Amino acid sequence: MRIIRTIPELHAARAEARAAGATRVGFVPTMGALHEGHLSLLRAARAENDVVVLSIFVNPTQFTDSSDLDAYPRTEEADAELAAAAGVDLLFAPDAAELYPAGYATTVRVAGPLTETLEGAGRGQGHFDGMATIVTKLLLAVLPGTAYLGQKDAQQLLVVRRMVADLGIPTRIAACPTARDQDGLALSSRNVRLSTAERSRALAIPRALEAAAALVAEGVHEVAPLREAASEILAAADVAPEYLAFVVPESLAPVESVTGPVLCAIAARVGEVRLIDNVVLTPTPVPTKE
Ligand code: AMP
Repeated sequence: MRIIRTIPELHAARAEARAAGATRVGFVPTMGALHEGHLSLLRAARAENDVVVLSIFVNPTQFTDSSDLDAYPRTEEADAELAAAAGVDLLFAPDAAELYPAGYATTVRVAGPLTETLEGAGRGQGHFDGMATIVTKLLLAVLPGTAYLGQKDAQQLLVVRRMVADLGIPTRIAACPTARDQDGLALSSRNVRLSTAERSRALAIPRALEAAAALVAEGVHEVAPLREAASEILAAADVAPEYLAFVVPESLAPVESVTGPVLCAIAARVGEVRLIDNVVLTPTPVPTKE
């Protein structure tokens, strides 16, 4: 595995690989502090490509809360070991000046409801502006055939898909399922900041999602009782959600009943740590009369 710090070096490594006959390039963009969720994306990339590129960059422009940026875990040495073991060929770990040199002035913005609601409302417009800008820059630096993103960040996935389509970036966006700890908590680099007590309270988030899914499986399709069941579980753990949303997965428009796939998404602060998670609810088919 080669560790690469600059965009010209990355372009050169990519050209070298192509000259050696490696045509399929898979890319996993991350902010590091790698966990099993990231590794599952890398496995998907490894299975389908000749060259696997991992980027690690804690992008300052997508943090709208500077204390969150300061507290974000940085574990580069351990990450490099995990990446090498996962079969990464090129680890792109630039510093901020490489991606935002003096005089940098360009922002990529996906406008409208995809970025105004949920995370956009919670973290501010700057979050998705920063994310869209850095993902564009990384896609242009890596020029991958496929980029692998996690369904855990469902809204980010939608925004990236919109942006790639709108800008005509020739990269396929592959969605990978959410990796969870054995107790159900969605893996996140931020989980290391939870105390033991906070971590057990945080379990209310996946349990609330599971409760909604279980009710749908029992045939409950109105959102009101689903919301009530999920809210009760959160409240019992003293977790106040920033949002508990039931929306159309492609448009993020709110729904009142589960007549097709519905994205149920939660954001909540547990102690100082802001966590997000989601599940796609699918209605049970109505049994047909004989
Ligand atoms: P991050 O380093 O948190 O910016 O995440 C980098 C990529 O890993 C994004 O595409 C995330 O959606 C994905 N990811 C983060 N956590 C998980 C998880 N628990 N399961 C699957 N993918 C994840």
